[in-house]
Amino acid sequence: MDRKTKIIATIGPASASLEVLRKLILQGVNVARINFSHGSEQDNVQAIKNVRKINTELSVHTSILADLQGPKIRIGAMPEAGVDLKNGAKFTLDTTVEEGNVNTAKISYLNLPKDVKPGERILLDDGKIILEVTQTNKTNQVTTKVIAGGVLYSRKGVNLPNTVISTPSLTEKDRHDLKVALENKVDWIGLSFVRSAKDVIELKEEIKLLNGSAKVIAKIEKPEAVNSLNEILEVTDGVMVARGDLGVEIPLESVPIIQKEIVKKALKLAKPVIIATQMMESMINSITPTRAEVNDVANAVMDGADAVMLSAETSVGDNPIEVIDIMARIINEVETNYSNLFNQEAFPTENHARFITDSVCFNACRLAKRVQAKAIITMTHSGYTAFKISSQRPKSSIFVFSSNRNLLSCLSLVWGVKTFYYNKMVSTDNTIADIKIFLSKNGLVSKGDLIINTASMPIEEAGKTNMLKLSEID
Ligand code: PGA
Ligand code: MN
Repeated sequence: MDRKTKIIATIGPASASLEVLRKLILQGVNVARINFSHGSEQDNVQAIKNVRKINTELSVHTSILADLQGPKIRIGAMPEAGVDLKNGAKFTLDTTVEEGNVNTAKISYLNLPKDVKPGERILLDDGKIILEVTQTNKTNQVTTKVIAGGVLYSRKGVNLPNTVISTPSLTEKDRHDLKVALENKVDWIGLSFVRSAKDVIELKEEIKLLNGSAKVIAKIEKPEAVNSLNEILEVTDGVMVARGDLGVEIPLESVPIIQKEIVKKALKLAKPVIIATQMMESMINSITPTRAEVNDVANAVMDGADAVMLSAETSVGDNPIEVIDIMARIINEVETNYSNLFNQEAFPTENHARFITDSVCFNACRLAKRVQAKAIITMTHSGYTAFKISSQRPKSSIFVFSSNRNLLSCLSLVWGVKTFYYNKMVSTDNTIADIKIFLSKNGLVSKGDLIINTASMPIEEAGKTNMLKLSEID
């Protein structure tokens, strides 16, 4: 079956070897996520190289998403057994201590004492422990009261939902990791804890400065990002609903509706959207998911997400292959039986700079629905028509031909899109005939199928997409 919704697997110790990676990709992984929050630089670069090696070996275009840690704040070292924080106790966060104890812990973020104000909340370990700021000396120490206690272990994450953080989104570590990722030609860069469109613009400028061509995924996991969603969507190439941190930074019960809103808005702007975190969490140790997890994955697909993502399930879990198998089965089931997913019409806006291209893409999808076309075929160098056609969620296959090799793996993240390398530019007629033969030979279309081509005529001008052709495979 031609699965439309893509699967992203985070690569880690459980999946970075050539053997496991090969199995994951054969099982259905479309995008390998390299999380620069974890793993050594050497391990991360090796994982990227392994994905590339398998791509060549299997003639596939698995995409690579390098995820930058961003200004993630952590507790420093604590005693091995952790310390038990009791409700009502006084607890101090200090930027200068070494190992923590029951009274104090090191905090990695140097500006914390300047940024917080009394009354604000500090959440530790995904919100399991809640502190309230009582005082700050504005240099190295923040005094708090424990509101909800628990055992605090080494290096747990810290969230500051009420605090305006002064640190930039791209930390020194991120700048270094970005350089490494771009040197290794990854397709996508994920930016954590985005707060405004400016964060995305700054990353894009940095990518340009480093002569990179990677596209950007803005991770929505801060209340500020939810409030600036429209502006962020305008400038980013894609978004991730990063539910792990989002559910700590905002009340967790508001995440489901925000997820739906983000997907809807992203689709309208033809920006790919990823649903992430805890999708199959129980399969880290168990061979089957919970029923609630199955429903969650299915609902993300029904919402219209481009891709569903696995984190610890594939990076450190016991069952990386099985989790992909089950996820693919859930997606296939929804796509086969839930027809509301398809044919999301987005009328082209007349004053838009791409009005001609948008209109051709819009009508390609309409026509495809009308004649039940087997495939919509597009030629693209920038990828624009692929994003645009995909965003209308046609039932037909979306085959994208490009001479831009960077684009082939990049588009593997996008709903429904299958990419092929093509560099002959004789004439539009010639190209269409040639591609038909190629698709028939590879069993992707068969005699009697109707197909729709979009192209730019004359081909040698490589201008905007201005042509639509309906034909039959003979
Ligand atoms: P992370 O991002 O795994 O890098 O934290 C995803 C999330 O927060 O959901
Ligand atoms: Mn996160």
